[in-house]
Amino acid sequence: MAEQPTMSFAGDGRLVLWGLCSLLLAACSGEGVNDPTRPVVVLVTLDTTRADHLGCYGYEKPGISPRIDALAGEGVLFTGSISQAAVTPVSHASIFTGLNPYNHGLRVMHSVSQNTLNEERVTIAEVLRDVGYDTGAFVSAFPVTRYFGFNQGFETFNEDFDHSGGQVTATGAVNTGAAQRNAGATTDLAIEWMGSRERPFFLWLHYFDPHDDKVMPPEEELEGVTFRSGHRERLKDIYDFEITYMDRELGRIFDKLEDMGLWDNCVIVVTSDHGEGLGDHDWWTHGVLYQEQVRVPLIVKAPELPGGRRVNSIVRSIDILPTVGELVGLTDSDLPIMDGVSLTPLLRGEADDLGLTAYSDSVNQMVYNFSPQLVDNKDDMLFALVIDGRWKYIHHLRERQNSELYDLVSDPAELVNLAAEEPEVMARANEALRKLRFMPVKQLEQANVPPDVLRALESLGYTGNESEVESPGQE
Ligand SMILES: [Zn+2]
Repeated sequence: MAEQPTMSFAGDGRLVLWGLCSLLLAACSGEGVNDPTRPVVVLVTLDTTRADHLGCYGYEKPGISPRIDALAGEGVLFTGSISQAAVTPVSHASIFTGLNPYNHGLRVMHSVSQNTLNEERVTIAEVLRDVGYDTGAFVSAFPVTRYFGFNQGFETFNEDFDHSGGQVTATGAVNTGAAQRNAGATTDLAIEWMGSRERPFFLWLHYFDPHDDKVMPPEEELEGVTFRSGHRERLKDIYDFEITYMDRELGRIFDKLEDMGLWDNCVIVVTSDHGEGLGDHDWWTHGVLYQEQVRVPLIVKAPELPGGRRVNSIVRSIDILPTVGELVGLTDSDLPIMDGVSLTPLLRGEADDLGLTAYSDSVNQMVYNFSPQLVDNKDDMLFALVIDGRWKYIHHLRERQNSELYDLVSDPAELVNLAAEEPEVMARANEALRKLRFMPVKQLEQANVPPDVLRALESLGYTGNESEVESPGQE
């Protein structure tokens, strides 16, 4: 468009100048960003945020998450979204690729192998970049940095915080420490970036505040705030306080979208990589597969969706990429092969339940250099399925630990293990898990696998001379 008048009226400097000014004005006013055929996409991962600690998920404490609650009022809230791991990089890799961990290959965080997202995997950032999106990521902690491969597909990848507190030891153990920044610092940079875009963008915002109390909100936020005195009560209060702080900072992003005239033409996905034990099931942090750790918030707002809808169907983090793809008008040829499916029938109210099975795992020891103090950890080699929207099966690979079965409808807190009472459901769940081929043999060969684990794997159909299980079609 700009070249045409220049060529037709060669020699007329005023026209050339007019064309240039028009382009400049369009860029400054952000017109190029607001393209009805390509809505802006904002993916927000709220690290460590339990669904049931948000107001829109029924948290009894008032005023914790007003901006997220308001977003749920305008968008669609999923009550049964399950993350594919309760470990930050593993779960994020599923969000990014639409693949279960046994297919994307980032199995563990604390490891000397299988702890980075392979270049061959196709991420949401690569998909959107390849169809013309301007891609930018603003992350808040070490476990989602380029060290783990999360920069794939981002033209801007901001991990500008002090990494010196983060450590990776010779055995692969990762200590995030103070290698993080609070939501305010991340938001400031993201807003600056948003304001200077000239075409539709994909923004990934990662907030880390509720993860721990090592990096707190700025001091002025703490004025007049009191926390209970008991150690655990204090940590719980800080957890909620940091969710509220994060919620307000996220609100600034929403305000910026409004200011840019993009609010009605954007896709916003707010989710979490995992929850937090906070004492439930005798766990304080995260890493195992009980609901308080893998049931995550999932809220989607997009143009022309019915607002305020709540969906109770089981859905998964792996469904985010195919859903975003469909919402921005991509076709199958734009997308990689994925384990996830598009949730748009649920978003549009065309279906109430897709009958999905959710998978999560925790396989730390399988590729860890074994060390004696880890052998009896309870976060070891767990594989969970939620089937029929009701049954939660947690398979323990170690012989010494009993597998678990819970009825999430009558027992959402997973307090009564029904494994002995429901042999038929157990058999069905075991069969469903076995079919997934969740543990590629190649990994077993690299790991110093104890005999009881090998026996357990053989009983599931894995044998020593079997070839590696294939991923679903990605080279
Ligand atoms: Zn995390």
